[in-house]
Amino acid sequence: TTNKISYLSIDMNHEIPERPLVGRLAPSPTGAQHIGNARTYLLAWLSIRSRGGKLILRMEDIDSPRIKPGAAQQAIDDLCWLGLDWDEGPDIGGPHAPYVQTERRESYQAALNLLKSAEQVYPCTCTRSDISAAASAPHAGLEGPHYPGTCSHRSVKDGEELSSRGQPFAWRFRTTSTRHELHDRIAGKLSCNVHEELGDFVVYKSDGSPAYQLAVVRDDLAMGVTEVLRGDDLLPSAFRQLDLYRFFRATPPEFAHVPLVIGEDGRRLAKRHGDTRISLLREQGAAAAKFVGFLAWSLGLRPTANLVTPKELLADFHFDQLPSGPFVFTNTMLHELLR
Ligand code: GLU
Ligand code: ZN
Repeated sequence: TTNKISYLSIDMNHEIPERPLVGRLAPSPTGAQHIGNARTYLLAWLSIRSRGGKLILRMEDIDSPRIKPGAAQQAIDDLCWLGLDWDEGPDIGGPHAPYVQTERRESYQAALNLLKSAEQVYPCTCTRSDISAAASAPHAGLEGPHYPGTCSHRSVKDGEELSSRGQPFAWRFRTTSTRHELHDRIAGKLSCNVHEELGDFVVYKSDGSPAYQLAVVRDDLAMGVTEVLRGDDLLPSAFRQLDLYRFFRATPPEFAHVPLVIGEDGRRLAKRHGDTRISLLREQGAAAAKFVGFLAWSLGLRPTANLVTPKELLADFHFDQLPSGPFVFTNTMLHELLR
């Protein structure tokens, strides 16, 4: 296993001091991409392209029960319509192919094996309701309650016995009480003790598929990604991912977490706020430059929402104009865009 670890480390390039700038666009084809996604993709593209870096398009389709047929192609069409491009991706290939997560299972399995040989994971048989019942302070929200460590007494070997009894289980990462510091390019300086604030997290699900945390870290390392720009709903995940980077003894990418787009009711943009799919704008014949102009204004890159292309935004792009809070998307704005 020592051999394997050093092989994986070399593969991850963590000793090269000056890494070429690489970003990624990572849509989940669990449904249509909406204006919030478009805003993040535009910013991710501008951040990398304004500094002459490379972009990778990666389809994050491991969440199999929620994947919608046709959504991957639709995401590609949306990005093209916006005027964004990339240097590597499922549609054009590249040196880090494949660019579709369901085609990269061996790589995630290898990462899980490393975690197992270091006893860094343990089998967890808890159901969702077990966890909420045992958690002392369940905080609602996407992240679910703090995992109370119910199964942490188990070792990797216990997994064999559970399997032989046909008992399903997930693999959970064994966190230790360390405080991670994060200098986020947008959110600023933050810190978190994953063990205390979030708890041990799943890296492989009970259906035998890799969990988001492991897949995304493994891919970002394998693909040489140096900047991860995404929605700030994933900020807690960034700290979990830092635990994984530390385990793999690899340099984490720079993080930039963009405040989300919310509706007038203050809630995260969803179906109840009307149809904000990029594909709808496209199908209704809206001009991409008008939509990009709107996004640029929402990002503080332009004083008014005028027609503009992503390329035209490159010249004077800066992070410092970004508004710090979430962006409120109103019904009036939606009607204006569709007009
Ligand atoms: N695929 C995720 C999403 O669409 C993004 C994950 C990431 O950027 O790390 O929300
Ligand atoms: Zn458990």
